[in-house]
Amino acid sequence: MIMFVDVAFPISSYKVFTYKVSPALAEKATVGVRVNAPFGRRNVKGIVIAVYKTNPFKGKLREIKSYVDDEPILDKPLWKLIVWMSDYYLTPIGQVAKTVLPSKLSTRYNPSVLWMVRILSKGDNANLDNLGKNAPTQAKVLAQLKTYEDVIQVSELRSLARNPLGVCQRLEEKGLVKLLKETRTPNVTGFTFDPISKQIYFTKQQREVLHKLSSMLNPKKFSSHLLHGVTGSGKTEVYIEICRKVLAYNRTVIILLPEILITPQIAGRFKSVFGDAVALWHSKLTQAVRAWTWKRICLGDFKVIIGARSAVFAPVKNLGLIVVDEEQESSYKQESPAPKYHTREVALMRGKLHKAMVVMASATPSLESYYNQIKGKFTYLQLSHRYGGAKYPQVFVVDMKKEQDEAGKIGQIFSGLLLDKIENRLNKSEQIILLQNRRGYAPIFRCNNCGEVEMCPSCNVTMTYHKVGHSLQCHFCGLKKKAIELQCKNCSGHNMGLLGIGTQKVEDILIESFPGARIARLDLDTAQSIVSTTKLLKKFSSGKLDILLGTQMIAKGLDFENTTLVGIINADTGLYLPDFRAGERVFQLIYQASGRSGRHKKPGEVVIQTYDAGNAVIKHAAKLDLKKYYNMALSERRELNYPPFSWMSNLVFSGKKKTTVLDRADKVRTGLSGKYKGLDIIGPAPCYRERLRGRHRIQIVFKSAKAQDPNGLKLHHFLQQNFGPEINQQTHSGVITSLDINPVSIQ
Ligand code: ADP
Ligand code: ZN
Repeated sequence: MIMFVDVAFPISSYKVFTYKVSPALAEKATVGVRVNAPFGRRNVKGIVIAVYKTNPFKGKLREIKSYVDDEPILDKPLWKLIVWMSDYYLTPIGQVAKTVLPSKLSTRYNPSVLWMVRILSKGDNANLDNLGKNAPTQAKVLAQLKTYEDVIQVSELRSLARNPLGVCQRLEEKGLVKLLKETRTPNVTGFTFDPISKQIYFTKQQREVLHKLSSMLNPKKFSSHLLHGVTGSGKTEVYIEICRKVLAYNRTVIILLPEILITPQIAGRFKSVFGDAVALWHSKLTQAVRAWTWKRICLGDFKVIIGARSAVFAPVKNLGLIVVDEEQESSYKQESPAPKYHTREVALMRGKLHKAMVVMASATPSLESYYNQIKGKFTYLQLSHRYGGAKYPQVFVVDMKKEQDEAGKIGQIFSGLLLDKIENRLNKSEQIILLQNRRGYAPIFRCNNCGEVEMCPSCNVTMTYHKVGHSLQCHFCGLKKKAIELQCKNCSGHNMGLLGIGTQKVEDILIESFPGARIARLDLDTAQSIVSTTKLLKKFSSGKLDILLGTQMIAKGLDFENTTLVGIINADTGLYLPDFRAGERVFQLIYQASGRSGRHKKPGEVVIQTYDAGNAVIKHAAKLDLKKYYNMALSERRELNYPPFSWMSNLVFSGKKKTTVLDRADKVRTGLSGKYKGLDIIGPAPCYRERLRGRHRIQIVFKSAKAQDPNGLKLHHFLQQNFGPEINQQTHSGVITSLDINPVSIQ
């Protein structure tokens, strides 16, 4: 019987296309299956989103060519997840489908095969002249093989024959050689630490947490939890144990980690317990490993998937548990391309659809999750002590302004205290982690005498210095001020400076100051290949390096026994980004980084260098006083109606010509006022990154108070009605409009 299907393609449009399915293919025509279909002049991969028995479309139809996969990849919940994401993030379903099922991946992948050949004794004794009369190439190849004792790769004979395999096959027919086929299974060992076995005796607190979680493990029910455990409290051991229980129910597990760099160590720990049932999944695997792993996930070979953001879509069947480790991390947000999803949101929805358990875990939860826990949306589980009596490190705050006055040197990178402590650790053969989180784009204009950075009074974000026009601007509400010529408005000093020290510079100074030390740097520039970074981390772990220097990527998740000093070179980096979450991020980063120190028997120390020692964020972070800081931050958010007290979305307009972008933003803005009570529309104002890749960027921010819009539905409908179809399309004189639902940064 002929069938008809609607197919969505990964294009930026909501349009779907109807196709005919021939009787031969009709049997497999189901919703969620991937097809190759003619589209324009090419064949394109698409996904079936509806199936009909009669033709729903009057025009002439083209025909589906073939299926992409042999097995249906999507189970119902995963398909529903795609549909939900398309609606929630206002993104065409074809584009969501491509995110969930990357088009390069297919269950038809087969690892490459390597042909080997070995000469047999009959071949060794064969008369080459006779053979050469009829088959000169075969004789040449055989002569060559006589010189080898062992098997060799057939491809090594390429200089003698254009098709060496064919020649060897002829020789094999004559009984002169033996061909052997070796499947080259992609090698995954470079991506994980070696498994180590360890005796685990759970503490009372750990047992309590495990007991609560186990009691909620129910194959028919969704549940969500916030596991708030200080760094080194054994959260990972808890995941492993609960994972064991979930597997016993014959269900599968996804463990999400915020940073690819820490996947090898954690995967090693899981492998020591679950062996080959564990698979690693992230974007830095090689093509072959990715393709191979994905196929085997589809076939059900793996029960535990450990990975970064995209692992939330791992097509495991019978999912029972998702853990989102360090759930506050902004790397969980996909910024581009659309859908701009947040892994936390997707994990919760996937958990609901699979009736699975979802555990948000962190030493420093996001304010959102912290608030959700207060509101009772998550059960709250706590691990408040480090395992094995390991003490929390002692923290020293160095006021770099004072340091500067005393040393008489400006722009110093290392304080005397930090230098002393590094020296001391080097002498004791203990290890050091140094954090220099150079992020942000435009430099910040700051007074080197008093540390003053100008803030916008109504948005509580930094004013950004603009060279052109010599002005300070709030990139949130658009407020603009003339910068006082090279003078601090707080102390009237004339020592204004641009901030900016990168890891590279720090490394140079380290090498100069400690010529004998073995130093490694890890940041986006050096972390190009995961295999080489894993090597580097293994090296540090086994004591072959003294100092590990890096950006925020080294601040979390790593567990090194001999690290007893963490230095935060400039704790203020990121503090002055024009984003209402800036403070929260800096707090979490300092707290996390501190957590790398003294995790085991040896006590640890942390040195925090700051130009703003009086800053509330730095002060609370230095005391590692999370509760106090969170309560303060929550009351600030409440006052300004920021998330978690409101729903937020932002709309970014970008284009080559500034005036066209502005015009477009103004026009859109004009039509939007007064739609419902509790909706707050801010802007248009320039984005913090005002020009990005040659495009001017202007944004409008929407806030919808939870008091009036408890589930965010009002804002959702408002956005859907006003913007749905035009998002991400090159419309209106080259101005692209892109919508971000629940953005993690307003930049
Ligand atoms: P977190 O994930 O909370 O930072 P980890 O799970 O990495 O903490 O635990 C810190 C260290 O303590 C790890 O080396 C871990 O193996 C060890 N550990 C934690 N709990 C136990 C336990 N119950 N028995 C033995 N070792 C433990
Ligand atoms: Zn000043």
